[in-house]
Amino acid sequence: MRFDYDVIVVGGGHAGCEAAAAAANLGAETLLITMDMTKYASMSCNPAVGGVAKGQIVREIDALGGQMGIITDRSTIQFRMLNRSKGAAMWSPRAQCDKALFSSLWRKTLENTPHLKLWQDTVNQLIVDTEGEQPKVCGVRTQLGVEFWGRAVVLTAGTFLGGLMHVGRNSAEGGRAGDSASHGVTEQLVALGFEAGRMKTGTPVRIDARSLNLEQFERQEGDEQPSKFSFLESVGAVEKQVPCYLVYTSPEVHDTLRTGFADSPLFQGLIKGIGPRYCPSIEDKLRTFADKEFHQLFLEPEGADTNEYYLNGFSSSLPWQVQVAALQQIEGFENVDIYRPGYAIEYDYFPPTQLKHTLETKLVENLYFAGQVNGTTGYEEAAAQGLVAGVNAVRKGRGESPFVLSRDEAYIGVLIDDLVTKGVDEPYRMFTSRAEYRILLRQDNADLRLTPIGQKIGLASAERVANFEQKKSLVELLKNFVHKQGVAPCEISDYLKSVNSAQLTQKRKLSDLLIRNEIFIFDLIENFAPLKNFIAKHNIGREVIEQVEIEVKYSGYIEREKAIADKLKRLEEIKIPANFDFQAITSITIEARQKLSRIRPITIGQASRIPGVSPADINILLIHFGR
Ligand SMILES: Cc1cc2nc3c(=O)[nH]c(=O)nc-3n(C[C@H](O)[C@H](O)[C@H](O)COP(=O)(O)OP(=O)(O)OC[C@H]3O[C@@H](n4cnc5c(N)ncnc54)[C@H](O)[C@@H]3O)c2cc1C
Repeated sequence: MRFDYDVIVVGGGHAGCEAAAAAANLGAETLLITMDMTKYASMSCNPAVGGVAKGQIVREIDALGGQMGIITDRSTIQFRMLNRSKGAAMWSPRAQCDKALFSSLWRKTLENTPHLKLWQDTVNQLIVDTEGEQPKVCGVRTQLGVEFWGRAVVLTAGTFLGGLMHVGRNSAEGGRAGDSASHGVTEQLVALGFEAGRMKTGTPVRIDARSLNLEQFERQEGDEQPSKFSFLESVGAVEKQVPCYLVYTSPEVHDTLRTGFADSPLFQGLIKGIGPRYCPSIEDKLRTFADKEFHQLFLEPEGADTNEYYLNGFSSSLPWQVQVAALQQIEGFENVDIYRPGYAIEYDYFPPTQLKHTLETKLVENLYFAGQVNGTTGYEEAAAQGLVAGVNAVRKGRGESPFVLSRDEAYIGVLIDDLVTKGVDEPYRMFTSRAEYRILLRQDNADLRLTPIGQKIGLASAERVANFEQKKSLVELLKNFVHKQGVAPCEISDYLKSVNSAQLTQKRKLSDLLIRNEIFIFDLIENFAPLKNFIAKHNIGREVIEQVEIEVKYSGYIEREKAIADKLKRLEEIKIPANFDFQAITSITIEARQKLSRIRPITIGQASRIPGVSPADINILLIHFGR
């Protein structure tokens, strides 16, 4: 028997699921092979999606026609818009999810996706044709000895390649708790010439909430008016939310944790991989902030119908007895029972500078890498890469142009450009500070930025496009109204007085009021009848109203960022030929020549972002290319 596919995806984590769904939804015959079909898109760590900058990525995945936003909305048990008190560019949606439901909804989605076949097995070898000028992947071989042939392969093996877990001095092979590690693929890729490295991450203890009296902890509720990720109107926001709780460590807890330092795999050199700076373990925090008397922790439910709670902020690989003894000293945790201790995991990754912007490897044709194997961390970063790799695997096979998002179009564009241009020296997670065009890349306008692109590549459904068109026209309608509608001083004076805003001396437009810091559109609606009536007449919803407020309030900043982006885009338009010999340009520094030869940027814009390539080097390249 011979099995032939257009695209084979290896790994059913967040990257693999999104890659497989995207490829199949584009009509490509797709196969998704994963080690355990009961664990699609399993949340190895925190049962939450989104957060600062990550929430923007999920909105972008949704706008393009991906699945993560929809599945998150359908499994949300608590929703919060983070950073609401800051500027609109910083607003970031975050959802606490029912972990089991999230995974089972993914399975349902995959099982109902036409053109997608599912197979449970472990891939331990890629089939690579090395006869031609460049090696070319042609399929995969599995542990069960089955061969699947495919025109493209997307590798999304997450933390499983050479996975090694640590609790105290105890180490065990595994891709994460309860799963085997995967071997063979790294070794083969290294033999083909790939560079591989080791990274590390960790996760906290899981608590049996029956052993705690939750009532005694400070509650953290979801938003009163929860929003959602998906732009699809048919996907609703969460109706019934559950609380999380705030918990604090103490000097006694810290003293107990310190008794385990002598057996810490992190401090005793057992762990060699580099860990995520922004998700440190509790023992790391004690070392770095030795004077701090307490650390805040979040007790978060893993689902609506489970007693399992996640203790956010207490990631640890100290001996499990030390973890439990320390927990028992937290107020309210005296009788704590745990389901499993925290642990650390080391795994193989491939430095992402070995990839093109399409996520195809430079070394082996038609082989794509996505997710944690590229040195990133986080479900959202993985899912975004999966979508990009899945789409490109299909497009290349059809002879279509590459699907690449630019840095001013999407956080996804920033993510991939950072990976392939700058590489990683620690697990990469997205932050708003990584994006130079933050005010353009907001969560509220992800559909306006990307749904037309999703439509062009064929991933955005008819329903999505219709929702988008309707929202766009309502935004324009309301924006026009706000720019045209006059307000007389006497119509608004009471409200202005109540918010300490300067009185009007003559008739002004609504938009002039809205740009004032202390004036908010929902207050204006309540205090200015023509606006209220207009919104009621056209049945304009909250999302549209918020978007108009942001666009009017920040119009100056938005225009400025657009102008800068347009200016810099000119550098992106200057292409560098694929086989250009950087070593021949002797007037640029040796370091720049080496870096340029290694990364092989495709535009001057990309070259300018490579660490070690200076503006002077770029000027020389510009002269070389006649600019
Ligand atoms: C212990 C732990 C702690 C973590 N802590 C954090 C954290 O604090 N913050 C954070 O942002 N992220 C954390 N993560 C990372 C987060 O889980 C990943 O970023 C995310 O899951 C990556 O998605 P992925 O699709 O790349 O890989 P994964 O979700 O790991 O999925 C990989 C999939 O590939 C399958 N697979 C692997 N090898 C093969 C093979 N050879 N053949 C077939 N199938 C295969 C596996 O079965 C699995 O389904 C943690 C992960 C672990 C394990």
